[in-house]
Amino acid sequence: MNDQRENALQYARNNKEIFLSTYKEILSIPSISTEKAHKPDIQRAAEWLSAQLGTLGMQKVQIFPTALSPIVYGESLGVPGAPTVLVYGHYDVQPVDPIELWKTGPFEPTVIGEDIFARGASDMKGQALITLKAAEALIQTGGLPINIKWLFEGEEEVGSPNLAAFIASHTEMLACDFAVNPDSGMMGREFPTITYGLRGLAYFELRVFGPAHDLHSGMFGGVVHNPANALAELIAGMHDATGRVNLPGFYNTVRALSQEEHEEFARLPVNESDYIEQTGVPALHGETGFTANELTGARPTLDVNGLFSGFIGEGSKTVIPAWAMAKLSMRLVPDQDPQKVHKELLRYLEQNAPKDIRWELKALAGNPASISDRKNPGVQAMAKALETVWGVQPYFKREGGSIPVVGDMQRLLGVESVICGFGLPDDNVHAPNEKQNLPTWYHGIDAYINFFVNLKP
Ligand SMILES: [Zn+2]
Repeated sequence: MNDQRENALQYARNNKEIFLSTYKEILSIPSISTEKAHKPDIQRAAEWLSAQLGTLGMQKVQIFPTALSPIVYGESLGVPGAPTVLVYGHYDVQPVDPIELWKTGPFEPTVIGEDIFARGASDMKGQALITLKAAEALIQTGGLPINIKWLFEGEEEVGSPNLAAFIASHTEMLACDFAVNPDSGMMGREFPTITYGLRGLAYFELRVFGPAHDLHSGMFGGVVHNPANALAELIAGMHDATGRVNLPGFYNTVRALSQEEHEEFARLPVNESDYIEQTGVPALHGETGFTANELTGARPTLDVNGLFSGFIGEGSKTVIPAWAMAKLSMRLVPDQDPQKVHKELLRYLEQNAPKDIRWELKALAGNPASISDRKNPGVQAMAKALETVWGVQPYFKREGGSIPVVGDMQRLLGVESVICGFGLPDDNVHAPNEKQNLPTWYHGIDAYINFFVNLKP
């Protein structure tokens, strides 16, 4: 087996140039999912991927049409008794605007120094290709040591409207021991990273109604409760003096951090001053008793995302507004339930809203947090692979945002995801001059070769 590991790594070294030209091929296809005009390019990218899977000798290679972008599938299940890994990827990319800020054509992949510039280089055609090239290296040197299923979608950048339904209707085809999601990055070139937790989200719109119409503040100020004041009072009451969210029961199911996790958070190569520098705030703010990394990764939040009421034009207008509105969202952590959080917010409003106003709460979105057990054999195999390639212990990170597909796979297939990709923080994803660092990309291929070999029982 170790021979195969060495042989596959050697194959990857020998084929660097060919790998790069394949990479350029897929980067040349402008598969922008947000723009209708690119529908043929979306199709072309799907066909390109299915041809790649075919060349690798995958079975059941198929392009499944959906209401928007097709889903590409292929599998290799030739190793009985070995684990089955479901590799997720997306082949669509963000639009290129503002095009005038690009130094090279977004779909004319260009190598400058150690980087390749093109839309999708980092997010995530490059990451998807890493998994295919690692598999190729193993197939060419004796065969895959485990079972792999590939699932590529073409509408991640528009919120994957058809993916969950597809997964739900193909649970048998997609059955696996765990999923792998390379749609992510490292904390820095020397910091290989495994993301093992993602926060969830609950999003609400709260409206407070007062008088039947706007009132003159001279004639009525002092006798009616101003809905803007009332909304501000309600929002102010949603946190206590220590920065904790003040909804009844909000923390009841929040999973506490283990000592090991505290230590991992402390190891992350980002600290308080980095947050201050990145945000431009005079000082950080938040729940007391936790570091900035812990607050963004492992603690829940409640934030106002928008506020609207009354007169916001130039100059002054003495008005008592008829209504006020706030957009509120919570970032959730394991094991909070978005539906339960909704009830907690309702209870808070029932208990605290004054009787002289009326309020309405609308739930706009909700998805739970996801977390992978760090003792999961997939996580272990990846950690070992990263350590082999980079020579340092990988960093375990909990991400503040969410990747919906990870939650979907947990919910619909009952599997955890190993989240590990090789983008860098300065890759300009979703922005002009997107790039991927090529030495890091080749390291990524080596890491996935090691990962697949490590999984062999
Ligand atoms: Zn992506």
